[in-house]
Amino acid sequence: MEIMYMSSSIYERLQLLPIHSVEDKYIDIYTALKNNSQMSNIEIYKSNQFEGLFVSALVKISIPSRGVYHNLDIRKNERIIIYSGENYPIVAPSVMIAREDFPFSFVPHLNTGVNRSNIDELNLCLYRGDIDEWFYKNGATKFCDLINEWFSDLVNGALIKQDGFETIRINNNIAVLEADFEKISKKIEADNKRNYYFFKMENICGNVYYRVSDDEFSSNDYQKLPCILIFDNKNVDDCYFTTTLSKAKDLSNFSSYSRLTHALRRFRSKFYDPKSKYLLNEIWVIMAIKRPQQVIGTFSCYEFIGFKLSFNFEENPAVDNCNIRLATTIQSLNKNIAEKLSGTKYEKCSIALIGCGALGSKIAMSLAKMGYVQQKLVDNDVFLPHNLIRHEVTTPFYIGLNKARIMSSKINVLFGKSESTFYEEESFISNANYNNDFIIDCTASERNLYWYLMSNMECNGYCRCEIFMDGKLGVSFFEGSKHNPDIFDTRAYFLYYSVQDNLLQEIFNEQDNEFNEFHIGFGCSSDTMILDEATISNHASIVPHILEKYRNIDEGTVVINYFDKTNLENNFVRKLKVCKFNTYDLESGWKVHIMECVINSVREFVNQSNENMGLWIGCIDNNLKRITIVDTYIPPDNLRAKNKVTSGIKGVNKIIGSCEKKSCGIIRYIGEWHTHPNGRAVPSELDKRTFAEFSKLGKTYLMTILGKGEEGNWIVHGEETYE
Ligand SMILES: [Zn+2]
Repeated sequence: MEIMYMSSSIYERLQLLPIHSVEDKYIDIYTALKNNSQMSNIEIYKSNQFEGLFVSALVKISIPSRGVYHNLDIRKNERIIIYSGENYPIVAPSVMIAREDFPFSFVPHLNTGVNRSNIDELNLCLYRGDIDEWFYKNGATKFCDLINEWFSDLVNGALIKQDGFETIRINNNIAVLEADFEKISKKIEADNKRNYYFFKMENICGNVYYRVSDDEFSSNDYQKLPCILIFDNKNVDDCYFTTTLSKAKDLSNFSSYSRLTHALRRFRSKFYDPKSKYLLNEIWVIMAIKRPQQVIGTFSCYEFIGFKLSFNFEENPAVDNCNIRLATTIQSLNKNIAEKLSGTKYEKCSIALIGCGALGSKIAMSLAKMGYVQQKLVDNDVFLPHNLIRHEVTTPFYIGLNKARIMSSKINVLFGKSESTFYEEESFISNANYNNDFIIDCTASERNLYWYLMSNMECNGYCRCEIFMDGKLGVSFFEGSKHNPDIFDTRAYFLYYSVQDNLLQEIFNEQDNEFNEFHIGFGCSSDTMILDEATISNHASIVPHILEKYRNIDEGTVVINYFDKTNLENNFVRKLKVCKFNTYDLESGWKVHIMECVINSVREFVNQSNENMGLWIGCIDNNLKRITIVDTYIPPDNLRAKNKVTSGIKGVNKIIGSCEKKSCGIIRYIGEWHTHPNGRAVPSELDKRTFAEFSKLGKTYLMTILGKGEEGNWIVHGEETYE
């Protein structure tokens, strides 16, 4: 027969002495216990050893008619001892059970020691969260109800909830042992003979915080401590502690305990050297207990009990009577936990983040903390002192290092992985392969945009994040699927949209007088931009969310985050949908992209017997040889005939002129289209004369002819006309 409990009573262990009056500060808990209809025979005590009030009460428990759950020996009256310590009511009372042969071993929700005291007695875990906070809010009367509820749940089998196996509650531990228990659980499951491992561990902080690695300990590891893991991956235990623990044998009702002696023997023969002073009077042990279901707060069915075993390797004693002191075990941070805590357990793509400045670094880190750990970071810049003001990195330690390297190492350190890589180069000369990546371009560089558009790159998607208007505007541009609309078109549409919006119009004021399309002082690439870190963080903060929401959408998307710190109530987030573009690759190398909805509306006129014409509104990039058309204007006074159309003038100056003026020439009149009803899309003699007249004007113009079922585009560029 096993001795399941200590010979002395709890009254003796706590050295309780009856008293006759209750100090004022404990009146409410005392009164609440007296007034609780399920409690009787109230007695009050003090202890010579522990400051505070002890109240003993008999709890009436209504036993279900079908009997107690699992036939546990729970009786209709159980005596409990309620302890209120010297910090009552800031610290909640604790409830101990007076009966020594109470079936502790099968009762979850027991703490191993009394909260914030030196009392080593099993006591009820009444509330899964912070009981002190709960008590402070809810008070003594409700606390007594909670005791009644606990017993009722116990006899009805309701202490174990659906969400997983309740762990053993360890109070008054002497240290914390951190390990990747998720990974260790997999190792345990895969093992088929050893039932133990010797791992390396590291004293992280003052003998109270240790990190256990899943690398095996070897005799060369002078700098590291050993930690023995014992387990039994066959037998399932659903029991708990029967007593508070002081000797190793107190763990003997768990199956894996039987492995401890063997593991110690193996460890001794392998590592113990009598001549070395290095070893060893004590050793850390972690015992894995296989539970019938997934353990709460973990990713497996293993619960891990950590303890320091006083074991003299020279004497090599029987382990049963060796002293143990418990530690708390804690799962190290990993991607799974990050996803669980951030509520982002969805499918993650791998990211290539180009530009690790203030905005890029914040986006990269937010994404990493949401579980996007596979990141390629690209930047050729070095971290400088002034970067500390706005960068994700806030320690001068990194000054002088490459920004991509810094971010990659920070992400890898976060979860102890090495899934993030870096390229200390500009994206356009880097050897990175982006085939499987979603690219997030935070460079604010037009050259980068040029590189991306010209390379016609295979990738999983592309988003460009930019800050405009002295920080007031954060904009994320998402390409549509298969680069349609591509980033240039998406941005062109956004600019056209901005021309027509009173607040967004300001974006064009940044441009200097020099006619320099798309170089509108974009973003914070300039070191001199004056902008506080909170504003950049505001813009960075929404990018991960819109990435999740829009990265798989077929059409293009623009998300505008307007944040004016001087006028907070006007701020908004707005989404624009950007439809597909019809694209025409001309032999001359020019590309014409016309918004699908625009070209479709124009095509209607091909079916009318008279010709019609309109003006193209869009933008041109001479480097890219790209014309993007975002709208058309059809003068209402066009003179339309069967083989000829003469452009009207009504509204032309008002519409086109103001667009060009407001956008500083970026969005402007680009050329014209006209129809050849029932004809071919080839220039007539008249058309050729018109082209020649345009060519005298010196700029680049697009001439589109719409015939039956076909379109032709001609670029008039100075003296030449290209097809
Ligand atoms: Zn014509």
